Amino acid sequence: MKFLNRLWSWLRFVLPVILITFGIILNGHTIVKFIKQKSSIIHNSSISTISQQPNNVPSPIPSTTNSLSISTLPETSNESKFGHFRYIESRPEQMMIIGSYAKGENQRFEKLESEAALALMKLINAARDDGVWIIPVSGFRSVTAQEELLQKQIQKQGSPEAAAKISAPPGYSEHHTGYAIDLADGNLPTQDLTNKFAETRAFSWLNLHAKEFGFELSFPKNNSQGVSYEPWHWRFIGSSHSAAIFVHNR
Ligand SMILES: [Zn+2]
Repeated sequence: MKFLNRLWSWLRFVLPVILITFGIILNGHTIVKFIKQKSSIIHNSSISTISQQPNNVPSPIPSTTNSLSISTLPETSNESKFGHFRYIESRPEQMMIIGSYAKGENQRFEKLESEAALALMKLINAARDDGVWIIPVSGFRSVTAQEELLQKQIQKQGSPEAAAKISAPPGYSEHHTGYAIDLADGNLPTQDLTNKFAETRAFSWLNLHAKEFGFELSFPKNNSQGVSYEPWHWRFIGSSHSAAIFVHNR
């Protein structure tokens, strides 16, 4: 009895200490595990952020930093469909917004690769100094967006062949590269994306000055690709990187 009393009075003090210590160890382990998990998440996400960093340095060598599905394709290709060459969809998150375009209630923000975007801003400013109002209508376009556009065009034109003369098949549009831009005359919105654009002051000005800023008309009359005349569609070839992308067309 005396022994039990002594044991109890000993346990009364020691047991809580043991339990608390055990609890601290257990919690500590959980906390350490939690921190380890967290840090591995942070570590992984920082890697993916780095891999998504823009590669703005112009390079004549085809980029292989794109995601796995597209890294298997060369950046330039002489493979063509209805006269349009194949292009890799660039990454819009590395591009610059060049303006917004609205038709009715639909307003969208247009993007270009930064080299082309900066050159276009200079071009637009120079035109403005000459009293000409040039506005960007359509810049970068994803393969999915091109698919939707082509479907509308097929309905309008009646066949994929006829539609391809106006809209490139998905995967074959210069707009996928982020180096092509449709331009319009801000004073004549009804002539946007029509052959009538060729009669505007904006087009006359572009014909004279676009090359000074690294832009050229992609589909002039009787172009070697057999694509119909598009006075509004211009591509940037002012850097070694962009020129390499369009090497098959020129
Ligand atoms: Zn275009």
